[in-house]
Amino acid sequence: MTETPTRIRAEIDLEAVRANVRALRAAAPTAQLMAVVKADGYGHGAVPCARAAREAGAAWLGTATPQEALALRAAGDTGPVLCWLWTPGGPWREAVEAGIDVSVSALWALREVAAAARASGRTARIHLKADTGLGRNGCAPADWAGLTAAARAAEARGTVRVTGLWSHFACADEPGHPSVTAQQSAFREALAVAEGCGLRPEVRHLANSPATLTLPDSHYDLVRTGVAVYGISPSPELGTPAEHGLRPAMTLRAALASVKRVPAGHGVSYGHRYTTTGETTLALVPAGYADGVPRHASGAGPVLVGGKWRQVAGRVAMDQFVVDLGADSAAPGDDAVLFGPGDGGEPTAEDWARAAGTIAYEIVTRIGARVPRVYL
Ligand code: PLP
Repeated sequence: MTETPTRIRAEIDLEAVRANVRALRAAAPTAQLMAVVKADGYGHGAVPCARAAREAGAAWLGTATPQEALALRAAGDTGPVLCWLWTPGGPWREAVEAGIDVSVSALWALREVAAAARASGRTARIHLKADTGLGRNGCAPADWAGLTAAARAAEARGTVRVTGLWSHFACADEPGHPSVTAQQSAFREALAVAEGCGLRPEVRHLANSPATLTLPDSHYDLVRTGVAVYGISPSPELGTPAEHGLRPAMTLRAALASVKRVPAGHGVSYGHRYTTTGETTLALVPAGYADGVPRHASGAGPVLVGGKWRQVAGRVAMDQFVVDLGADSAAPGDDAVLFGPGDGGEPTAEDWARAAGTIAYEIVTRIGARVPRVYL
């Protein structure tokens, strides 16, 4: 369902995406840059953001699923793309035939990719992933020597080419966390084992956005930046976007759907968690949790209406929530800005994250499919 952008819209500033990519390339001048565009470009739209990132010099694109990577190819992208989240029976053959690099963390995956390569008559491009301490995907240290040796043997047979060796941080957004140096040292060991068995990858990569911004010795040949591409600081502890030369790319705005005067004692929204304390003006913002507005921000989420910050009054419902304008007036159709870069006085995604007890990553990524994206 495509909705016209009169009720609510997410405005995406593609020049901000381009400027953020340029800023990140300057922060990691010796490495190539991968723009991570999984989850529909963290809610910003994968294809337009991928194009903008390429224009600004992103050599690589990164996705979680192969379907996301194939969608980039269908949209005309021909450059290096890596996807890293596979389950048995995934569309390996389509990925190999589309020239998509795939991550391999286990022997079963190596076998499936090699079989797809044989079936398609092409050499599969794979990145071997080591679990250096995140404990999610990635090959366990005890199995790494076996996986790298098997991959080297597959290279010798011509079914695969190991184009990358990589891993992912657990706590790079927490300055000084001891796991960071432990993972860096585990990564060096994993590289030594792989290189010791003859693997010569094109790229070795470890850094996500926080590591790109704060840990230059983790940059290796390629940095994989996601949230920072969209102008969001990886964590409040690492400072504001502006302190890193970044600008938030998404502004979420709605048009007020109703405005009315009510007396004291008027209950507001489901559960009556808010009751007016005097005669006041209630305005209805036509955006709810189906649009990605977090219900956990009930009573707390900030919205700019008429030049002032208001708070969600009562509960966020599926399609709407209310703000109390007090003595101020407004008209249906007036602008309600939930979040944006912040320099027009509006709240930021970080403010919503604080109100909802989550991270800004989730605030932008959860914006619902029925919210039209409008590209500036
Ligand atoms: N690399 C991998 C494997 C990821 O899963 C992600 C995102 O979660 C990223 C890189 C990008 O992380 P960030 O958005 O913190 O830059």
